[in-house]
Amino acid sequence: MHRQIEFLKGVGPARGEILRKELAIHTIGDLLWDLPFRYIDKSEITTIKAARSSPEPVQLKGIFSELRLEGSGHKKRLIATFEDGTGSIEVLWFQRIKEIEKWISPAKPYLLYGKLQDYRGRYNIVHPEIEELTQQKATQTGLEPVYRSTEKLDRRGIDSKGRRKILKQLFQELRPEELPENLPQNIISQLRFYSRYEAIRKIHFPASTEELHAAKNRLKFEELFFLQLLLLRSKVKRQESIKGFVFGEVGQLFNTFYAKHLPFTLTDAQKRVIKEIRQDMGSGHQMNRLLQGDVGSGKTIVALMCMLLAADNGFQSVLMAPTEVLAQQHYASISELLDGMEVKVAFLSGSVTGSTRTEILEALKSGETTILLGTHAVIQEWVEFKNLGLAITDEQHRFGVAQRAQMWTKSPIHPPHVLVMTATPIPRTLALTVYGDLEVSVLDELPPGRKPVITTQRTEAHRSKVNHFVREQILQGRQVYVIYPLIEESAKLDLENLQDGYERLLTTFPRPEYQISVVHGRMKADVKDEEMNRFKDHKTQIMVSTTVIEVGVNVPNATVMIIENAERFGLAQLHQLRGRVGRGADQSYCILMTSYKLSKTAKERLEVICRTNDGFEIAEADLKLRGPGDIAGTRQSGAFEFKAANLVEDQAILKTARLFAEDILQRDVRLALPEHHHLRMFLQNEYKYKQDWSRIS
Ligand code: ADP
Ligand code: MG
Repeated sequence: MHRQIEFLKGVGPARGEILRKELAIHTIGDLLWDLPFRYIDKSEITTIKAARSSPEPVQLKGIFSELRLEGSGHKKRLIATFEDGTGSIEVLWFQRIKEIEKWISPAKPYLLYGKLQDYRGRYNIVHPEIEELTQQKATQTGLEPVYRSTEKLDRRGIDSKGRRKILKQLFQELRPEELPENLPQNIISQLRFYSRYEAIRKIHFPASTEELHAAKNRLKFEELFFLQLLLLRSKVKRQESIKGFVFGEVGQLFNTFYAKHLPFTLTDAQKRVIKEIRQDMGSGHQMNRLLQGDVGSGKTIVALMCMLLAADNGFQSVLMAPTEVLAQQHYASISELLDGMEVKVAFLSGSVTGSTRTEILEALKSGETTILLGTHAVIQEWVEFKNLGLAITDEQHRFGVAQRAQMWTKSPIHPPHVLVMTATPIPRTLALTVYGDLEVSVLDELPPGRKPVITTQRTEAHRSKVNHFVREQILQGRQVYVIYPLIEESAKLDLENLQDGYERLLTTFPRPEYQISVVHGRMKADVKDEEMNRFKDHKTQIMVSTTVIEVGVNVPNATVMIIENAERFGLAQLHQLRGRVGRGADQSYCILMTSYKLSKTAKERLEVICRTNDGFEIAEADLKLRGPGDIAGTRQSGAFEFKAANLVEDQAILKTARLFAEDILQRDVRLALPEHHHLRMFLQNEYKYKQDWSRIS
């Protein structure tokens, strides 16, 4: 498998070099694992007449009846008329014109493969795959794999056709022992899998759709299974080897708070999660837990009660938030909740300087301060704790992996217990993959009395109606957010947009009757806070902002969220923004202002967000619409470099793989049994390089 590609017959040094450079294919193993991304069903030929209504690519059989050049310079194109007796289409080439012109001979039959486009009633195909129809081809049936390629590769004859030739050669030389089995026999027979060798051969040369399907399934399973095995094993290992502080006691602080200070009854979900965390922290092992809870599900109180538990056992805690505003809000609300109790809480961020900072750091080091709240300043090197026992990050997807890892170094004896909280629900399959080695708690219940936010989409034509509605709400004493997009690439333009919008609002909602706050990313922190606070204290009724308020802000009296250019926001962002309203007892509304013309995916996103308030449902939809690589916070994990598996389509396979992995580890954590020998060897040899990320994600 580690044989260099150039030693393969039919490749040689020159082509080997191109394969390396263009596709990073170095070895025979790389070549085998560069799977076809598509298959052409050569047994199926569509007539031009029928093809017109097909949204999928089709295979056509016919002749070129006319060939002509049009345009000049870089607009030059080759146009051919292709007909098959049921109709005709145009075929267009913009590149490699000379070559193709020479190659095509009129009146000979060809096979074309491509997608038909309707160009003003005239159908065409651009740059189709094309093949001469020889006698042998005419009778051939079955699936033909298509591989990724580049222009350079095509020119050197390593297009899909060339690749198939090379692979055919390879399989003539390859002995099955060179692709040894890596799954235990019982899985193979239970799931009726092909052997590894068979599966890889059949994925390149399937004889039928059924065979292809079975080969794919085996390879998908294999990828997901090993990942799960790895994640679960590192979880077990961590539980075994990394000792944690034992928070055995539920003491006075926790109990007093629960009895006298808690302003509401905990939801059942909150109770359950606190219990899960307590068990972890009392076990003697280090906790490493992810807390998922939709916007407004009450994560802060859970965090606070866990910090009190730490305090009862004589340990300090830290809660880190991604923005200054959010950190201060935590500080304000937690200080208020703890008012009258014997716990010292401190706040630290980049804006805390001079002697104030020195005092805070000293109180922390001496152990006088029990709970530290702040921004990422809290994990800087110069921050020393006396005995940090619990580290919590809020909105964890906003922090990089390195920042989270820094938490681990803050305690000299054991690493502190770690709780990461996120309001961006992650679909379950993704959670299993990205956080497969963490324990996961879910707050799947909102505090009572919350009404779902009513969400609608509106355009400029409804502007005066929207304004009227805003006026009504303000008249009833409610407050309103107006959000503008801010996307790095067009930051300047976006800011102008916000300015324009602000000025328009000033005319529509004139002072002194109406007061408006503005917040955007370019403002100085203290000005920003001032504006925030004016809104929080109800001195202003409207808050105009870029997405800086996306995270965490809590103003229960705000009932209207207007999102301008809503089509430019992602689903997760829209959901987060909408979560800013609906926090009080009153019915809240979210109005998505969009342009008239929307792309298909924008329409789908808006449809989802109007239909449901359920963060998990939205996350699933997001995963389907965007693919796993783009889901917040998961890109850097490296968990998505699957060759065969696809997290969106293969949820069922993932679940099965996880079950089998769990079963094996339950019986044999060390993979020491003879029947697990394959597994151990494979993990050791092939998966070594993947170990790094699985630990920290
Ligand atoms: P998030 O999970 O988004 O961080 P918060 O912790 O900010 O949510 O809580 C949202 C609001 O709900 C806060 O005003 C909080 O005081 C309130 N809250 C939390 N838990 C409960 C509960 N069990 N009953 C009533 N209100 C609650
Ligand atoms: Mg929060």
